[in-house]
Amino acid sequence: MAPISALTYNDAQRLFDDIDRQFQLSQETLVELSKAFLHEFSVGLGDYNHPMAMIPTFVTGVPNGTETGTFLALDLGGTNMRVCEVVLNGDKTFSLRQQKYKVSDALKTGEATVLFDYLADSVDAFLTTHAASAYTSPGQAAVDNNPDVVHLGLTFSFPVEQTALDSGKILTWTKGFAAKNAIGNDVVKLLQDAFDRKHMHVKCVALVNDTVGALLSRAYTSGGCILGAIFGTGTNGAYVEEVAKITKLKNSSAAARGGHMVVNTEWGAFNNSRSHLPCTPFDNSLDRLSINPSYQAFEKLISGMYLGEITRNILVSLIDAAPKALLFGGKATAILNKHYGVDSSVMSDVEAAWEGKDASEAADPDSIPTFTAFDDSKLLPAVKSKLERIRLVIVKQFGYKDTEVTLRDAAIVRWACSLVARRAALLSGVAVAVVLLQTGRADLPDKSGKHAKRTETEEIGVGVDGSLIEHYPNFERTTRESLRALVGPDVEKRVVIGMAKDGSGVGAALCALQALKQHQP
Ligand code: BGC
Ligand code: MG
Repeated sequence: MAPISALTYNDAQRLFDDIDRQFQLSQETLVELSKAFLHEFSVGLGDYNHPMAMIPTFVTGVPNGTETGTFLALDLGGTNMRVCEVVLNGDKTFSLRQQKYKVSDALKTGEATVLFDYLADSVDAFLTTHAASAYTSPGQAAVDNNPDVVHLGLTFSFPVEQTALDSGKILTWTKGFAAKNAIGNDVVKLLQDAFDRKHMHVKCVALVNDTVGALLSRAYTSGGCILGAIFGTGTNGAYVEEVAKITKLKNSSAAARGGHMVVNTEWGAFNNSRSHLPCTPFDNSLDRLSINPSYQAFEKLISGMYLGEITRNILVSLIDAAPKALLFGGKATAILNKHYGVDSSVMSDVEAAWEGKDASEAADPDSIPTFTAFDDSKLLPAVKSKLERIRLVIVKQFGYKDTEVTLRDAAIVRWACSLVARRAALLSGVAVAVVLLQTGRADLPDKSGKHAKRTETEEIGVGVDGSLIEHYPNFERTTRESLRALVGPDVEKRVVIGMAKDGSGVGAALCALQALKQHQP
């Protein structure tokens, strides 16, 4: 029997290769995922109480840019909470003033009434310090006789089973929230009660998910949009569906009216059973130690709240590799040892350092030798300077001494970040593709990987928001890679992905406007 000695180069390289392999997605896997996804879409459209909730939003039209009015919006659900005043100018433009407020972990996980009191206080503070303009809007008089009442749209970025534009029950918390005595309650009532307790002249008239906000605001500024999607702290999408296909609405007045309605998919909950998702041990460990084990399975592979933690799990496993450490000489730091200690923005910094500012700096990742054969002196100068930049990011962000991080460590960290982020972006493309498939705008490839010819030419508008899609290097480009593999290049080319800037605020305002119009005689 061979003696137990240090890992040989081959053993070590196999460890890297194994990890790498677990994160790859073939076209076949992407197609299988899309089919499973479509199946969950149809289950959710047909019935209540499924994780992929396919929530009817009661938003029955998208704006065209001519809408006008001044509204207050409150946005809760990402990394920040914000209050904003939105002025819709009616010419596809808007102006917006906003104030961000922190939501502490204590508020996220304490009593719901305390959280909602805090929201009301923040609105009060905003109204006081920002001496609001006149909050006038069409339909105002029809709703209240009091002209001083300020109408507010609430963007609440969690799963809510909506029963009308201005009411809905909280289904679950996600993204690290767990406030007590909220689930099952009407979120608009929770907020309105808090306003009323403080005798504020504010009335919450509309409730909207951030994805719906992104869809509406993108439609307002661009004239057309079929999908609003968030790739940020969490992930989700809302799209325009035919009411006839939302079969769980049967016998309702909405079904009788027909037409279209925006559906909030809650795709973060896709495949919670994880029968199809390509989860690795690093993902399993993240899920097990999360605040909501076995919920939001898709979101945990994709969104900003989790990517840093998956990466941390990989890095720590290499630091701890036995019998020989494969990273940082076997030494971890307090930051690397801490649950959620690595933020996805650090990954973004690492990849930005690799990308460089101009294209001439682009270096082929394959120009880095296998980690076990890594030799500083043989690196191309351009590659070396990129790795040095990454090394400095690592020293600073992970809390190492300068002498503790080598260029090889830098190369390994970049590799880990790009593995995790690339898989996230490819999976994001699956979700976008599924909406195109569901709405008849695309077909999956045949067995040989070919796509049927399609003759349409019009643009397909997609409004997006979130830190990953906005800031993570190459995220959108990689999203398009899997989109192209699934719907074919002809359809993919017609997809116009645009930022829904301030989508949560503008979307809430547009929804408040629609609510007031519905009250008009
Ligand atoms: C929530 C969605 C939300 C998404 C993006 C998810 O965790 O369930 O309602 O749209 O995050 O913020
Ligand atoms: Mg947000």
